Amino acid sequence: MGGLFVLRAGQVFDGERLIGRAAVMLEDGRVADVDTTGAPPPLAASVLDFGSESFLMPGLIDAHVHLSLGATADVVGPLLEADDASLLASMRAAAERALSAGVTTVRDLGDRGFLSLALRERGPRSGLPEILASGPPLTPPGGHCHFLGGEATSEVEVRRAVRERAERGCEFVKVMVSGGGLGGGCPAYESQYDLATLRRIVEEAHRAGCRAAAHVHGPGAIADSLSAGFDSLEHVTFLTTGGVDADAALVGRVAASGGAATVTVTSRPPGPSSGSPGCAEIERAILENHGRLWRAGARLVPGSDAGVSPDRPHDVLPSYLSTLVGGIGMIPEDALRAATSVAAKSLGLAGRKGRIMQGADADVLVVRGDPLSDLDAVRDVVAVFRDGVRAL
Ligand SMILES: [Zn+2]
Repeated sequence: MGGLFVLRAGQVFDGERLIGRAAVMLEDGRVADVDTTGAPPPLAASVLDFGSESFLMPGLIDAHVHLSLGATADVVGPLLEADDASLLASMRAAAERALSAGVTTVRDLGDRGFLSLALRERGPRSGLPEILASGPPLTPPGGHCHFLGGEATSEVEVRRAVRERAERGCEFVKVMVSGGGLGGGCPAYESQYDLATLRRIVEEAHRAGCRAAAHVHGPGAIADSLSAGFDSLEHVTFLTTGGVDADAALVGRVAASGGAATVTVTSRPPGPSSGSPGCAEIERAILENHGRLWRAGARLVPGSDAGVSPDRPHDVLPSYLSTLVGGIGMIPEDALRAATSVAAKSLGLAGRKGRIMQGADADVLVVRGDPLSDLDAVRDVVAVFRDGVRAL
């Protein structure tokens, strides 16, 4: 699709800061220019003026989703019953739903049969967000999410599994370092892999050009994953047998590592405790510790864990952003940065995603209102552009 499109908005947030009223020019799937002078648009351009109440920003990035999980009460049963064709169809619907909420990039951290890769083969203009993928997460036999097909435990198995992901085109290798609630005998606070194995996995991933993401809950798993050199820590709940325990030294280590900590925000403690009276208390404790991580300077990135439960449909990310403010203590501008430019950096997409600037991908979200004073305005979607094409 050729031609020059000019989007005029009352306020433009470029992923790092507010730049005020501006015209954003899109051409060939890229941001061609950002004009704040009020100069008349080029004659050949098609102009879309969203009005003075509009707020234009980079499309949102959801750093942790599962397109293959259906956000139902039982996510495992339907996944086991579905054949690849029907699973792919539901993944497509999940991805479309994310895009309609302004989520223009998702990182799938656990699919079945590498179907995320099949889905993204349809291309950037197929009405889907950009999809980064890990394929099935590595887990020991019978471990957390083993039903996704990523079982590997010995040195030979884990190295082979990592190489397979790299060869297929995954950008990430996801490792279930901790246990969890989905189809595994290992509780979330216990580690499933020893440090030597984790080091091997990260070494092999980096050698193959992949980033490594660690699903971590317990303090031991968090510490080991930092030692092994993972690029991102997922969840980081500091869950223990008795509740939540983040000691100051470990919080400091996470912050000093410079790696990303993906906060899945309303992280419900996985397993039998979910829904119990102590649940809300544990959630509060998790968020408090995420607040400590934030104040210590950790690079926090929001991920919805979309798909794992009914309260996490695939378009849920925008409504989670207010938790970054209310629960973790960010200001709204920090929350917008976390879901755009900061997330892009953490995912290896700096400059290409999460920014409204010359040369960046033309992935754009336009909303009504001012998210910098009321973050809920992010949900009042006016238009979404993906790769320069209007998707909504
Ligand atoms: Zn997950």
